[in-house]
Parts: sequence; C-alpha cells; structure tokens
Amino acid sequence: MHIPFCHAKCSYCAFFSEVPPSNGIDNLFLDRLLEEVAQVTMARSVPFETVFIGGGNPGMLPVSFLAELVSTITSIGKPVEFSMEMNPESLQDAHSLLFESGLDRLSIGIQSMQDRHLKTLGRNTDRQKNLQGLARAKELQDTFGFRLNCDLMTCIPGQSIADASTDIDELVDLVAPDHISLYNLTVEESTPLAQRVAGGSLVVLDEDRQADMLESCWDRLAALGYFQYEISNFSTEKATRCLHNERYWRLDEYVGIGPTAAGTVAMSGRSVRTTGAADIHRYTKEDAFSTYGIYPLTIAESMHEHLLMGLRTSVGIEKDAWSKRYGYRFNELFSERIVLLERYGERLFEDSKERFALTRAGFMLLDSIVLHLSQALEDAPS
Ligand code: SF4
Repeated sequence: MHIPFCHAKCSYCAFFSEVPPSNGIDNLFLDRLLEEVAQVTMARSVPFETVFIGGGNPGMLPVSFLAELVSTITSIGKPVEFSMEMNPESLQDAHSLLFESGLDRLSIGIQSMQDRHLKTLGRNTDRQKNLQGLARAKELQDTFGFRLNCDLMTCIPGQSIADASTDIDELVDLVAPDHISLYNLTVEESTPLAQRVAGGSLVVLDEDRQADMLESCWDRLAALGYFQYEISNFSTEKATRCLHNERYWRLDEYVGIGPTAAGTVAMSGRSVRTTGAADIHRYTKEDAFSTYGIYPLTIAESMHEHLLMGLRTSVGIEKDAWSKRYGYRFNELFSERIVLLERYGERLFEDSKERFALTRAGFMLLDSIVLHLSQALEDAPS
C-alpha cells in the first residue's frame, strides 16, 4: 500500500508523493483508501501472507485511521508479517495502538545519523529527531516485541567511509535492529539533488569510491552479525528477512493499493501489472479501483524482471521454478552468456544444477550483468 504523503520532499526523491495542504489530508482520500482495503480484504477467505504499508510516510496519516486500516486487514486473521514504514520524526507513543491492532514490523527511514548528510539529502529531520525516533521505537519494541528495520543510505556526496561505518555502528548500538536496508544514493533526473550536481555545487563520489564504501559497509554489517540476503538488505537471522520484499524478488503475486502502488496478479496464466495513477485528486474523486492501469506482461518482460529481481538476492534464480514458470530452461537461454562472464578475473557468480546466483563481486556489477544476460531474451517470444 502506498501512502503518497510526506512532510517535505527529500532532495533525492523521485517517488510520487506530495506535501499535504495546510488544512491536512482530505478525509475523502482516507475514505477511498479504506474502501479499497476493505474490499480487497473481504474478497479473501484466508489472511494475507504479508502486508506492507509504505510511502511516502504513512506516519503522516492520523493514528486512529492507521489503526482502522490495520484492524480491517487483520479482521480476517493475522498476516505472517505486517510491516509499516514510518519516518523517525513521525513516530509517536500513540502508535502503540497499531501494534495492539496487529502490526508486527516497523521500518524507520533513518538514512544518516549525521546532520551534514541529512541536510544534503534534504530530509525533514536531523540527528536529534532521529535519536528521539529511535528511542521511541525501542520503548515501543520493549512493550510490543515487534521486528524492526532501519533504512540507511551510503555514497552521499561528502560522506566518508568512516561516516558510513559509524552510522551502522551507532544504529546497532542504539536499537540493534533485526534488519537493516542499506542503499547507495542514486542521483535521479529532475530532482533538486540532480540540479545541484549539474550546477557543480555537489560532487558525486566516483565509482571506485562508491564501490569501496559499499564493500566496507558490507564488511561492517557482516562483522556485526548481519547476513546479506539481498544486495541492499541484511538480517540477523533467516526469520527476520523481509518476507514481503522476498515476494517481489520472486515475482510472486501481490496487490498494490493507492496512488502509484504497483501490483502483480495472475490472470489467465499471465502476469499482469497494475499501477495506481500518480494523481491524488483523481484517486479521491473517482470510483474505487477505477484509477489503476492494467498492463499484461509479456513472457520476455516477466523473464527480464525475474533476472533483475532474482539476481539481487543471495539465493539467486531457482532454475526449476524458472522452467516451470516460463517453459524455457534457464541453462538453454543463458549458458552461452554465462560462459562469457567467466572471462572476468573475479568470481562473479555461483552456477549449480539448482540455481544461478551472484557473489558479492557480482553484486557490484549487477546492472551490467543483468544487461549482459538479458540480451539472450531478445529473441524470446512475447
Ligand atoms: S520521505 Fe521518502 S517518499 Fe517522502 S520525499 Fe523523502 S524519500 Fe521521498
């Protein structure tokens, strides 16, 4: 579920979200969202496996409304995992209501613990607010025992390897989250950050430096007991992996609700992508479910997405599942291209009878490897 509201727009963000007007979020928007959630929930006979309410910043919505959303979703039974994102400055003691209603995983967007870097990112927070948010999360967790993820960002212009490493240490010291998502900053077109880079007032770290920083952070996380089960995601144990994100990476079905929320559902044996319109006004005014685009994916598109998603994970791509799903053997499609990858000095992948997965060195070249392998799909049928 995508909640498209933020206190302020971060300088690097290319996601669809808006700062609500001064008189607050339109109640009609909340009514529409709850209506869609209730309809999807009531159409089911079994509980959802996983739920993820993200954004934007769901913490922008009234606590009582969020509690109603959570209660509606759990009214048919408790999901195996129920996550909500929240920016640290939004977390309140009153959010205890959500954990009482069935929420069992909180994801906090910290990004950095240092004022200088938070400023570069244009975050609506500072070190002090991040510390307060983390302290509040810890208190709530002590009472309700939920799982906790923190998002961190690396490769911020001006950030040193020591800065990035200190962020990890401090976070682990303060709240010992069972899960950390560590992203490297990408400069997206048409963002204020891209404008500053183009104007020369901000210098992006060069590729070697970015790779060194990521390597160091990955080493630090491993030393602290975090296992890298996806290129940007680390958990203390198997049980604390994000089951919801694993669905995306496996290309399993999921329903997307809200403006710009994407979903993937199976229809007549084909994967169909649904996408909520990037228009809060339309979403509010038009009938429930009338603002979603529906796009059947070709087999070649599904396979390309599967490569892109599957190779992000340490498990990689399961070859049997691939053949069953698409009717093409993984090795027949890709073995010639995989041989070409062997020419690199470093071991970029593990290729067994059961699966094909990238190593840490391979993760560093993920985009190029996906591009290289996906050329084998050019002749695949639609
Ligand atoms: S809080 Fe998240 S969604 Fe909102 S502007 Fe910042 S990065 Fe984008």
